[in-house]
Amino acid sequence: MKSSSRTANLPLLVSILLLSSMGIAGCEVKFIPDIDPLLLPTAPSSGFAELDVVETDSQTLELEAAPISPSDPDFDPDDPQMWIDAIESRWPNVDVISCMGQELIQECRNWAAEELGLIYEVLEEYILTDYIDQPLIFIRTAHDNYAGLTAQYAEGDDKTAQIQISDHAWRTSPAVGIQDAFDRFFPMADYFKSVVAHELTHAATWFYPELLDWWIAERGTDDGGVPGNLFIGRFYTWDQFDGIEDPEVYRRAVETEFFAIVVATLMYDPWWGQALDR
Ligand SMILES: [Zn+2]
Repeated sequence: MKSSSRTANLPLLVSILLLSSMGIAGCEVKFIPDIDPLLLPTAPSSGFAELDVVETDSQTLELEAAPISPSDPDFDPDDPQMWIDAIESRWPNVDVISCMGQELIQECRNWAAEELGLIYEVLEEYILTDYIDQPLIFIRTAHDNYAGLTAQYAEGDDKTAQIQISDHAWRTSPAVGIQDAFDRFFPMADYFKSVVAHELTHAATWFYPELLDWWIAERGTDDGGVPGNLFIGRFYTWDQFDGIEDPEVYRRAVETEFFAIVVATLMYDPWWGQALDR
């Protein structure tokens, strides 16, 4: 199971890495694609779609109910709760918080059905899916100062990532380059999806720091400055990391960010992402 799911992802990952090498190397950031380091020995198998066999009192074996699917005949795509049920039944590690009647965090809002449908799509399409297998919480907020934010929690070895998504996600394009200067005037579903993919990448490197090690080793460059260039990453708010004095901590912080930008760009940028077969 482990090797088959991983093998199935290989062609996609190779094409992504080749694409990223073309795109980024063309802009003077060195990145040599190599698929091997992605095969991390500690990587989990992707068991999202597997059915659990449970033993009942009568000692017979039953299959748990199949996940709720948007293609079910009685699925109502305009019903947010149906999307939440579909997401949580297909990806049991995912918890979608609905703020009705509760204020878990400041500025908590209810999800639009369309937004939940987009999250469903991103979870289906996410290119590092094996690395987001631990508890993931999604919360919709009305915060004004970010499009997406991933809060990271650990209790012993148990890690959780809490992803907050705001209105700005609709207007925040992934590459943060000079070509994106006017994107915020044109809200797009792909921008929303790119913010979700960006935050999922923060969750992935939180759950598996070795994924970030791999990225840093592959990138190889360390000139002490912020990563990226005019076309990808330059207009990210890098100065938020200026207070970090330890150079190693600083580098991991900015590389985590750049990795999230690159993954989201490869998946959903209208220009950079076009070669990807979704
Ligand atoms: Zn980020």
